Amino acid sequence: MSASLPFGFCLCLTAALASCGPAVISSGGSSYGRDIYGHRPGPKGFKTVIIDAGHGGKDNGATSPHSGQREKDLALDTAMRIRKELSRDFKVILMRSDDNFIDLDERVLRANRFPNAILISMHYNSGPSSCRGPETYYWRVDSHGLASRLQQAMCQASPAETGNRSLVRRRMRLTRNPEIPCVLLEGGYLSNTAESRQISGAAYRQKLASGIAAAIRTQAAIGDAGTGPLPRPINAPPSRPTDAPE
Ligand SMILES: [Zn+2]
Repeated sequence: MSASLPFGFCLCLTAALASCGPAVISSGGSSYGRDIYGHRPGPKGFKTVIIDAGHGGKDNGATSPHSGQREKDLALDTAMRIRKELSRDFKVILMRSDDNFIDLDERVLRANRFPNAILISMHYNSGPSSCRGPETYYWRVDSHGLASRLQQAMCQASPAETGNRSLVRRRMRLTRNPEIPCVLLEGGYLSNTAESRQISGAAYRQKLASGIAAAIRTQAAIGDAGTGPLPRPINAPPSRPTDAPE
């Protein structure tokens, strides 16, 4: 991210936070006996992966000023590719498999139907034209190792790995509210000329999907091993549609 925008927000995240809908997440304890804040080591041995293609339907997300491609279509394409990569070894649930709008709180409710799963929300970014590179957002302690692996995998797929904000801890509805480990991935900036061209190519999206799938497989096999110390616990209420960007 450019120095002038140290706390900048990509358009798609802003849109996601601003979208309307009832706040339906309970702030009470988990029905699965877990710490509701996710203060525990990351997942290992999970068999179910939920892939959430960001946006959809009336919500296009970002649109590339260079290629005209819409984030919602690119995210769905990438989600499908990740599913194909993982389907031999995991039960893969797609949050949406077509151009449907699903409210963010509804996505959280659907994810919570699978207590031993992980949730990956796939997006592409938009911001100042100089911004580039993949980014990974997480909040829960139990999502840190997974997020680290996914960010590393996306950087290996992208030639812009040195130009990004990297791993970001941010409380959002899809990083705080689910009861399962959850991360939000930005596969690059549609607002950057070179990166938009790259994202428009199926070869890049496939490379990204293969890397993401490999990172998920590694997490399932060895948990957080090798991903460094866990972040500090933070007790914070569920993210609401009305939250100011933090
Ligand atoms: Zn988005």
